[in-house]
Amino acid sequence: MHIYHGQIAGRFTDMANRGVTPESAVNGGGCLIFDEELATAIQGELKRSEGMLSFVASENHASKTTIEIQGSMLTDRAIEGYPGRRYFPGCEWIDKIETLAIRRAIDLFGADHANVQPHSGTNANLAVYLACLNPGDTMLAMDLSHGGHLSHGTKVSITGKMYRRVAYGVDRQTETIDYDNIAELAEKERPKLIVAGGSAYPRFIDFKRLRSIADSVGALLHVDMAHFAGLVAGGAYPSPVPHAHFTTFTLYKTMRGGRGGVVLCQEPFAAAVDKAVFPGLQSAVLVPFVAAKAYAFKVAATDEFKAYARQTIANAQALASGLMARGARLVSNGTDSHLLLLDVTQFGITGAEAEQALYDGGIVCNRNRLPFDTSPAGVGSGVRFGTSAVTSRGLREDHMNDVAGLAFDVLAKVCPPEKMRERVAAICREYPLRVDRQDAGLL
Ligand SMILES: *Cc1c(COP(=O)(O)O)cnc(C)c1O
Repeated sequence: MHIYHGQIAGRFTDMANRGVTPESAVNGGGCLIFDEELATAIQGELKRSEGMLSFVASENHASKTTIEIQGSMLTDRAIEGYPGRRYFPGCEWIDKIETLAIRRAIDLFGADHANVQPHSGTNANLAVYLACLNPGDTMLAMDLSHGGHLSHGTKVSITGKMYRRVAYGVDRQTETIDYDNIAELAEKERPKLIVAGGSAYPRFIDFKRLRSIADSVGALLHVDMAHFAGLVAGGAYPSPVPHAHFTTFTLYKTMRGGRGGVVLCQEPFAAAVDKAVFPGLQSAVLVPFVAAKAYAFKVAATDEFKAYARQTIANAQALASGLMARGARLVSNGTDSHLLLLDVTQFGITGAEAEQALYDGGIVCNRNRLPFDTSPAGVGSGVRFGTSAVTSRGLREDHMNDVAGLAFDVLAKVCPPEKMRERVAAICREYPLRVDRQDAGLL
């Protein structure tokens, strides 16, 4: 069961070296056809990711074990329904796997109920909306350029076509969530659902306050903790679970658990959420992903994972301080989480140009719009950094300070990207991907 993608690429290379031809390689189910184009692309991606540092806030490096579980023979099963209520025989072991994932999710986050079947974070959100809204109902959610998410009722998403979305945002001065404005909007618009959480908001969110606003207008509260679920699991970020009627998340960001999504909810909504996921939105369960979720929840309950979550935030704060000490401006002047937003207007360049310059220097991060940004979505006036992936790789505060200095100098054009590339390559060699290093929290 060697499913690590490097090994797949290696297997193809080995077959080529042994002179295996497509004809001679066909075996049984035809699973050993040598695919040179695919092997080249997989190997290319492996080399790229090993030789660069990913500061993409939504990325992480899954452990070998997670990759093996996701690539296992569990993929053969086509199963619908829930444990004990399947539409096929032979589900005794699959039921154990899903029940483990459910029980561990409930224990880890202190939830009443968990549905571990959503194929993605977006599907988890859709399940919440299907469970509690009718088409045309109003939801109050954070504006995309203030840090929200596409699946929170934006026009280009099915969520914006199905439901009426009213947007809230951050305060112009503090660039933190304007709760008074949310209360006013809630009073005026009478939403059925208030949505919090997003993909580019660096600060803690006051879930208790949001719940009291929701209660004051008879709305339900949905918190999408896709980005910070791993920090919550590790005890490094406040948990929304006691306050929100629904909490959703993805596994591949700070959770470092492979792919897929989860819905947690309070007891009165359990049946509606399960019905929304199946048969409402999905049919067959992606069993290998459910198994990987079960493993991720076990890992996330360990002290090593708690240390990882704390280190992720310490790294983000070290990167933020390093940038600000050199005169850079960050949205909200810093971060409480794994991510930060750097305003690049002071360098006289766009977010897209900053993204490219840093990529040339070996650092992957993405252009992002800032609150009240007037530049187009594909350009942006900032870049977003996240530290989940580099922390999994074993990097610490002193590396973050190095990266801050190099990134600032590259953006200010006092250091050529090639020079930064050399330093980044040296760090990458010293901290290779997916070594089993306990102190990096790589389990
Ligand atoms: C990443 C993200 C999602 C989407 O998750 P997918 O698994 O990519 O569909 C949803 N909500 C938020 C806030 C996210 O950051």
